[in-house]
Amino acid sequence: MMFSNMWERRLGSPFARLPPRLPVMYLAIFFVVLVCSSLIGIHVWLTAHARSVQLGESEVAAANLAEALGQHAYDTIKEADTVLVGLVERLENDGKLELELDRFHTLLEHRVAELPQLHGLFVYGADGRWLVNSQAVLLKGKNNSDREYFIYHREHADRGAHIGPPVRSKSTGDWIVTVSRRFNQADGAFGGVVLATINMDYFQKFFQRFKIGQDGAIQLVLDDGIMLVRRPFNEKSLGRDISKLPLFHDYLPRASVGTVTFTSAQDGVTRINSYRRLEAYPLVISAALSRDEVLAQWRADAYFYSGAVVILVLAICLLGIRLVRQINLRTRAEAELVRARNSLVTLNQTLERLAMQDGLTGLSNRRHFDASLKNEFSRAMRGANSLALIMIDVDSFKQYNDIFGHAAGDECLRAISKVIADCKHRPGDIAARYGGEELAVLLPGTDVAGALAVGETIRAAIAELNIKHPGSATGHVTVSAGVEAFAPVRFETEPLDLVKAADQALYRAKSLGRNRVHSNIIDREVRLASGVGVAG
Ligand code: GH3
Ligand code: MG
Ligand code: MG
Repeated sequence: MMFSNMWERRLGSPFARLPPRLPVMYLAIFFVVLVCSSLIGIHVWLTAHARSVQLGESEVAAANLAEALGQHAYDTIKEADTVLVGLVERLENDGKLELELDRFHTLLEHRVAELPQLHGLFVYGADGRWLVNSQAVLLKGKNNSDREYFIYHREHADRGAHIGPPVRSKSTGDWIVTVSRRFNQADGAFGGVVLATINMDYFQKFFQRFKIGQDGAIQLVLDDGIMLVRRPFNEKSLGRDISKLPLFHDYLPRASVGTVTFTSAQDGVTRINSYRRLEAYPLVISAALSRDEVLAQWRADAYFYSGAVVILVLAICLLGIRLVRQINLRTRAEAELVRARNSLVTLNQTLERLAMQDGLTGLSNRRHFDASLKNEFSRAMRGANSLALIMIDVDSFKQYNDIFGHAAGDECLRAISKVIADCKHRPGDIAARYGGEELAVLLPGTDVAGALAVGETIRAAIAELNIKHPGSATGHVTVSAGVEAFAPVRFETEPLDLVKAADQALYRAKSLGRNRVHSNIIDREVRLASGVGVAG
């Protein structure tokens, strides 16, 4: 064969269709899509995760900040309040303030000097008059009975500390936070108010120390929603009522401590707010971080890595497209190869067939007949089987040619050959053009009787064609046939013996009058049996 074993292995059977490359292409596409979507999926997941981690950390930072600020506010006020508690105790038990004004004044001065947050300490009488304070010179004739804290204590008998809304100091004009307590006279009646004022600046400076970004906010608010101190500092916000804002309105009633994220209606900034209500004083502290600022680094990272992922995905897609194209090209090339190979095989088979076929009749040619005879002879010898041969010759064909011409003779030969081809039934039977208008039928595994029967069938079928032949005794084309059959024996018989014997039988058929099938074996047997002999 034309193709080597390598090609056989690679390309499968000669009639193989397209090689199964299509799934490989789909596999490649699937792989590329899987890699790209995994990359994108993992990136999206990691980015979302990093965002939630960042937000979580910011919530913790805001909560810690609120805790620290709350503690600071408590300590600041507690220290001032402790001074007030001492003053109240003295005022109520010593009861001789007028006599000890100097001593008291010195005491207040010392206390203010000791505590940096203290702006001043004041003692007001039951009518609001300034009795004594920490200032160097006591301004006589001043009256604070109009102040919120004074009115509060005058009207409330409770002895606790009161923290008032932010006010401007009458003495210095500074913004201050007031912490005050009531003191009673000996009979329990309202004796007056002791007041500690705390520099708002003290809180401001402390608030300023924390990194909370541009849009971060810290606020210290009274329990009822009145703003005390705020960062960023804005005078307008001081004393403002924020009880209707989400922190007081929505979240504080639910929990005294918490961290919530919401968008401010004032400036539209979304903040992570951590808040806590102080236990000892009616104060609420909140620390808020802008979500945008908190996520700024995360956003920058996300853009950077997203860009990298997009480039990577594009690169993989481009490579994938190239890969798929290569697979396509290869598939097509292999398909072409298979097609070329198949047509070569077909061509080869056609050539083989043509090499074995007789051009005029379509029967096997002499070369194929000789090879087949040799093969069948050997096979019959090995199997001790009978091999039969029918030699057929057209009667008076020379005359037919002379009458109708050579072309008509060829046509007649073709018709006869077709009949012969149709009359061989077994797959192993071989009908061949032996030469000229002489035809041969090789019948493996057939004895002389079977061959005579086949010969007779052929003869009759050709006669039935009824091809006009004026030169023939019957008026139409007939054939004569000689039959020979025997089981070949090694070293005793050879293929040519069968041909010769069949030829002799044919010769005999001719001499007996044509249009007949003759076997010399049968003839001999009949003659041996009876001494009378006509066969066919
Ligand atoms: P018979 O066999 O009956 O004794 O007489 P015949 O006239 O047929 O004699 P023979 O078999 O010797 O004749 C052979 C003739 O067959 C010679 C030739 O004109 C003709 N012939 C042989 N081969 C072909 C062929 O291929 N085509 C045609 N048209 N004629 C052929
Ligand atoms: Mg002849
Ligand atoms: Mg003849």
